[in-house]
Amino acid sequence: MCCILCSFLLPYSSWSQAPDILCKQTSDIARAEMRAAEKKQMGQWYKKTASEFLDIKYHRCAWTIDPAVKYISGTVTTYFTLQSASDSVLFDLTDNMVVDKVSRKGVDLAYTRGANTVNIRLGFILNADQLDSLSIQYHGAPNASGFGSFTQSVHEGVPVIWTLSEPYGARDWWPCKNTLDDKIDSVDVFITCPNNKAYKAISNGLRQSETVSPDTSNVTTHWKHRYPMVSYLLCLAVTNYQEFNKSVQLGDVTLPMQTFCYPESYDSFYGSTQSTLDALLFYHYAFGDYPFIKEKYGHTQFSWGGGEEHQTNSFVINPGESLCAHELAHQWFGDKITCASWVDIWLNEGLATQLVSIFMELRHPESIYSTRKAEIDNITSLPDGSVKVDDTTTVNRIFSNRLTYLKGSHLLYMLRFKLGSDAFLNAIRAYQKDTKLIYNFARTADLKRHLEESSGQRLDSFFRQWYEGQGYPSYKVQWAQIGSTTVKIKMSQTTSHPSVSFFQMPVALKFNNATQEKTIVVDNQSNGELFIRDIGFVADSMFIDPEYWLISKDNVSTKVTDIDPKSENLIVYPSPFRNYFNIMIQNYTGSEVNIILHSAVGQKVFANTYSLYNGREYISVPTQNLATGKYILSVFDAQGERKTISILKD
Ligand SMILES: [Zn+2]
Repeated sequence: MCCILCSFLLPYSSWSQAPDILCKQTSDIARAEMRAAEKKQMGQWYKKTASEFLDIKYHRCAWTIDPAVKYISGTVTTYFTLQSASDSVLFDLTDNMVVDKVSRKGVDLAYTRGANTVNIRLGFILNADQLDSLSIQYHGAPNASGFGSFTQSVHEGVPVIWTLSEPYGARDWWPCKNTLDDKIDSVDVFITCPNNKAYKAISNGLRQSETVSPDTSNVTTHWKHRYPMVSYLLCLAVTNYQEFNKSVQLGDVTLPMQTFCYPESYDSFYGSTQSTLDALLFYHYAFGDYPFIKEKYGHTQFSWGGGEEHQTNSFVINPGESLCAHELAHQWFGDKITCASWVDIWLNEGLATQLVSIFMELRHPESIYSTRKAEIDNITSLPDGSVKVDDTTTVNRIFSNRLTYLKGSHLLYMLRFKLGSDAFLNAIRAYQKDTKLIYNFARTADLKRHLEESSGQRLDSFFRQWYEGQGYPSYKVQWAQIGSTTVKIKMSQTTSHPSVSFFQMPVALKFNNATQEKTIVVDNQSNGELFIRDIGFVADSMFIDPEYWLISKDNVSTKVTDIDPKSENLIVYPSPFRNYFNIMIQNYTGSEVNIILHSAVGQKVFANTYSLYNGREYISVPTQNLATGKYILSVFDAQGERKTISILKD
């Protein structure tokens, strides 16, 4: 899902200022009222769901829809098994929908209503794992929830009905299992609508037929989908759609791309489909085969302000490049692998957002850094908030643009940086091939496991700090030039929220002067940590995280004359040494020093001359080829004065 008001469906280059402006148009009072109402409503819903013992195998949905009337009637036939023997079956269906009858093999069954369920008495004990089926005939004017689970509207004066069930709204308009623990193995959808308005009826999968009734008043469209699908992704839409078909070649497969748009939007949709096909080709080869390759991909236009990733048939308000790329990315992340809890919704939204960023980096490389910076500014506009959803009763929190989409995506940016692109992409590919997860559900721990296996790095601290923890670091970095090519760096940070006292991350630092620049990476594990690095020149300035990999804010880089200064003129360490030793020289006069190393028997084993920078130099001497034992180090200044130190190779 993607809400256009909350940002990122806007043209890529123009969205740096837009999100906050648009998001803040909702007044605080309206927001508070909406939140309170949703909490009350969803508090009931998410606690009481369909039988956890129900395993849905198949739905045959036969619906009658007139897009001019907010109303649905129909019969849903369900094939199912139970995980343990029972004489009753519970389906989710919002209470205001009227059940006309429930039947099994032509015989009516008793049922009761309440708590947004239909509790059906089978009249016998159905054993575990034994396939059975029943039909629920019902009707009503659905109470839309969430983002408008069942919406009747008009476009250019023509009626339209569409559905958008995520997160809790499937049961508003059909009897189902409204949860994140069971996928419908396959489905047939028959939608009957008036035949005199050029209406087309849309659902998931492949269209099988359009059959006009004998009296020609109605037309029934049959859609068939044969991949596992979570209930919130089952969709319908009806209006005077204009249809066009394109295709994309995926290896040996010619995959159809089917578009249903409002007639007034035909030109813009037709002209924009190629960028979606380009994204489909890219995702297919970068992240694994298109998940529904035996069927098709498609777009259906609706008027809600964003998009929804209905399986094989994304609903979109317009053919915007990043909106369409986002909903398409969900076919892998969200549809093929669905979050197993709304707590883990970033597995859908953060990953889809990151996929769009990777795709857009290729298409619009000139915008890479400005876009990352704008996203980080959005994430850090408040000092708190975790990617892990701490309140699944409000759609505003589940689908928080700042936390679920942007911070979720930037956790993945940071993992790309920390683990390296190859390990990161291999982990994502392995996640997309995991037979326990595909066409099924995943938790955050599943993605973490693949990232750890691919990289060989433990990520407990990373996920504790960045996924569960709130806020971000502000880096205060002091650095001093301590030799003609060497800098000393002190990494300090404050954090914006008490849930994390220190964020452990590698940090890129770019040093430059008028003619040279070099970026190094320090793996900052503690506050006040010191690093000495050879950058190859005398730098004028240093920029923290120049490519905007990190979630951070108000970073300050300060050049100082020294860090933790020592009074000694000559410091040699470590002692004893093994593969190298370091020499720190300071407060010398003159422009250079001579260094000579003798073995214990007087053999000269090393000699070199070094320029001084402000009387200082930092020298690292390689010693892999030296035998163990005692050595005499001599340092001659410009006047020929000698200092000697006895050192030991271990
Ligand atoms: Zn989305």
